[in-house]
Amino acid sequence: MTLAVCTACGQYKFGALVRCERCSHLPVTALDKAKAMTVSDHNFGGETLEEFKNLIEAGTELPYDPVSLASSSAPFQEEAYFEENFDFTNGMLSCKRCNCPFEPTNEEVFCPRCMEEANPLLSVCMSCDKVYDSSGNFCQKCGNRLIQRSERRALEVGREIAVSVRRILSNKDPLEQCEFLLQLRGQLPSEDLASSQHEFENFAMYTAVMALRQFVESGELLVAIVKEMVEIYRASFVIQGVREVDSQQIPVLYMRRFDEYDRVVARNPDQWMLLLADTVTKNCYGVERHLKAAMEMVL
Ligand SMILES: [Zn+2]
Ligand SMILES: [Zn+2]
Ligand SMILES: [Zn+2]
Repeated sequence: MTLAVCTACGQYKFGALVRCERCSHLPVTALDKAKAMTVSDHNFGGETLEEFKNLIEAGTELPYDPVSLASSSAPFQEEAYFEENFDFTNGMLSCKRCNCPFEPTNEEVFCPRCMEEANPLLSVCMSCDKVYDSSGNFCQKCGNRLIQRSERRALEVGREIAVSVRRILSNKDPLEQCEFLLQLRGQLPSEDLASSQHEFENFAMYTAVMALRQFVESGELLVAIVKEMVEIYRASFVIQGVREVDSQQIPVLYMRRFDEYDRVVARNPDQWMLLLADTVTKNCYGVERHLKAAMEMVL
């Protein structure tokens, strides 16, 4: 049984999604449910949960990571979509992606065609590690029989990668390596800091895309995974207060940056890391200002 902390009052409870006995809080929205799951022994040990309990009881807002929240609320959002739109009289649902009506067999929210296109089950080749959607039975590279990953789907992988990129960045700030830059950064206005952070996030996501390309042969499958990764970042901005309608621009900006990086890599595939680092530096206001300030100090 899951040990969880009530996100409203800090009381311990068994089951993250149940009503709190002390304050009657019940997680209802997808975001509330994601928060409730976060503050449970699914994610943290007893000592950390105790710390969270104390923080909540003291009235402090927990430092939820918006990207993790976006990722863990995505399945709850699908659940909510199903509950709101499923027609009990005829057993039909409009597909969440293309709107066409279909008969779900397992509370899925995508019609069979969209499922195949946007959220296919994954298969792997055990001998060369390539990942495929489950439409074929054999590896296109070595001809071995593929093993189907039971219930591993493209969207889930995209969500996990979004969270991993975020974790890597929050555990290892690239600028922190250099004390000099760190000092200079302390003097930057917060807008520049934010855009520099975004650029690094963009770059880290692109690096994840490059890594995925080694494993994923099919362009369509790669796109399905990458789109979901980017979608999680869009949703994380909504969680941070960006309006839904404004957030629609965010995936476009990410994809544009990926194209830009692609063109840089294509110029010299052997030295793409160096070239890309240069481009990222130029794009990244924070770093550019850092370097300018550094040059001025040296000259
Ligand atoms: Zn409570
Ligand atoms: Zn559909
Ligand atoms: Zn193979």
